[in-house]
Amino acid sequence: MTKSATSSLIEIARSIGQNIAGPAANDVDEKARFPIEALNAMKEQSLLSAYIPQYLGGAGASLRDLAMISEELGRHCGATAMIFAMHQIQVACIVHHAVDREYFRNYLSDLVHNQHLIGSVTSELGVGGEMRSSICAIEEEAENFILVKDSTTSSYGAYADDLLVTARKSPSSPANDQVLVLVKKGDFTMAQNGNWNPMGMRGTCSAPFKLTSKGNIDQILKVPFSTISSHTMVPVSHFVWAGTWVGTARAAVSKARAFVRGQARAKPGTVPPTALRLAEVVPLLQLLRTSTDALLSEYERLISSYPPSEELSSISYALKLNNLKLSGSELIVEIANRALNICGVAGYKNDSKFSLGRVLRDAHAAALMVGNDRILHTNAGMLLVLKDD
Ligand SMILES: Cc1cc2nc3c(=O)[nH]c(=O)nc-3n(C[C@H](O)[C@H](O)[C@H](O)COP(=O)(O)OP(=O)(O)OC[C@H]3O[C@@H](n4cnc5c(N)ncnc54)[C@H](O)[C@@H]3O)c2cc1C
Repeated sequence: MTKSATSSLIEIARSIGQNIAGPAANDVDEKARFPIEALNAMKEQSLLSAYIPQYLGGAGASLRDLAMISEELGRHCGATAMIFAMHQIQVACIVHHAVDREYFRNYLSDLVHNQHLIGSVTSELGVGGEMRSSICAIEEEAENFILVKDSTTSSYGAYADDLLVTARKSPSSPANDQVLVLVKKGDFTMAQNGNWNPMGMRGTCSAPFKLTSKGNIDQILKVPFSTISSHTMVPVSHFVWAGTWVGTARAAVSKARAFVRGQARAKPGTVPPTALRLAEVVPLLQLLRTSTDALLSEYERLISSYPPSEELSSISYALKLNNLKLSGSELIVEIANRALNICGVAGYKNDSKFSLGRVLRDAHAAALMVGNDRILHTNAGMLLVLKDD
C-alpha cells in the first residue's frame, strides 16, 4: 500500500471517530448498546479488511496503521476502537498463520467483499482468562467437526458474523494442546447466558455466551495455537489495545488541556496552577506512545523475516510484551485520573463537556483484559528461568 493510501485509512478512521462514533459514544455507554452506526461506517469504508494483503483485495495496512486507526477511534469512543482492534487481531491470526491455505485465502477475499465482523472466543467457564488452556474440544467426524464452548466474555458475540474459537485439538488432548478454529455465520448459535452491565467498555457488549457450532475441518488452523498465540494473538492484541488506550488517554488529556486553556483565557496574562499539572501529564501520554512504538518496530522486524524469527517465542520477548501491557494499562488509568484532577468537578460531572466518567471507566478495562496479576504471575515464573544476557 502506498503511503498516501495508508494515511487515507487513518483519515477515514479520524472522520468516523469525529462524526459518527464520537457523537454516539455517550448513548452507547449509557445504554450499554452496540455502536452499530460506527460499525456500519467502518464496513462502508472497508476498514474491516484493512490488514488483508492487497493481493487478496485488502488495503494491505501495517500493524502500525491498525494501532493508529484504533487510536483515532479511541479518541472518540473506546468501545468502537476496541471492537475494531479485536476484529483485527482475528484477521491478523488468519493472515499470519493460514494464508498459505486456499480455504483461508478465499475466506479473506470474501471478507474484503462482505466486511464480516469476526469475534473472539478464548475465555471459557472453568479456565477464566487463561487463554492457553481449554476445556472444550473439537469433535471430528469424517470431514466435519462440532464444537460447544461456554464462554465467560465474548465481545459483540450477538453481532459477530464469524468467530475464531480456541479449543482442545481433540477430546483426548491435554488442556494446553489447543487449536484455533473459524466458525462461520449460519453454522453457530450464541445463546447469551448472562447480562453485560459493566463499569466501562459498555458498547463492546461482551456478555457470556454458550457457543454451539459446526463446520468443516478445513476451518481449523493447522498451526498450533501455542504458536499463533505467541507469534500473533498476544503481540497484536497488545499493540492494537495500546493504540486504543493511547486514543482514550488523548481524549482525557485534550479535555484537561481545553479546561486549562479556558482558565487561562479567563485571566489573561496569568498561568493557571492547573497548567503545571497539565505539563506533568503530557509526558505520561508520550511515554505510553513511545513504549508502544519501540516494541512495535521490533515486532515488525521479527515477524517480517521468513520463517518468522524464533525470538517471537522467546522468554525475553514475551516479558517485554507483557511489560508493555502491564505498564500501559496502569499508565492509562493514571493519565485519566490526573486529567480528572485537572478538570475538577467539571470533569466529575456526567453532563459537562469536560466529563471524564466514560474515559476513566473505559480505562479500567485495560488491566482486566487478561488480568494484570495473571500476567505478573507468568512473568514471575519466566524471570526465574531467564538467563542473564
Ligand atoms: C471489555 C472486555 C472485553 C472482552 N472481550 C473478550 C472477548 O471478546 N473474547 C474473550 O474470549 N474474552 C474477552 N474478554 C475476557 C478477557 O480476555 C479475560 O478473559 C477476562 O477479562 C478475565 O476475566 P476474569 O478477570 O474474571 O478472570 P481471570 O483471568 O481468571 O482472573 C480473575 C482474578 O484472578 C487473578 N488471577 C488469575 N490467575 C492468576 C494467577 N495465575 N496469578 C495471580 N492472579 C491471578 C486475576 O488477576 C484476577 O484478579 C473481555 C474482557 C473485557 C474486560
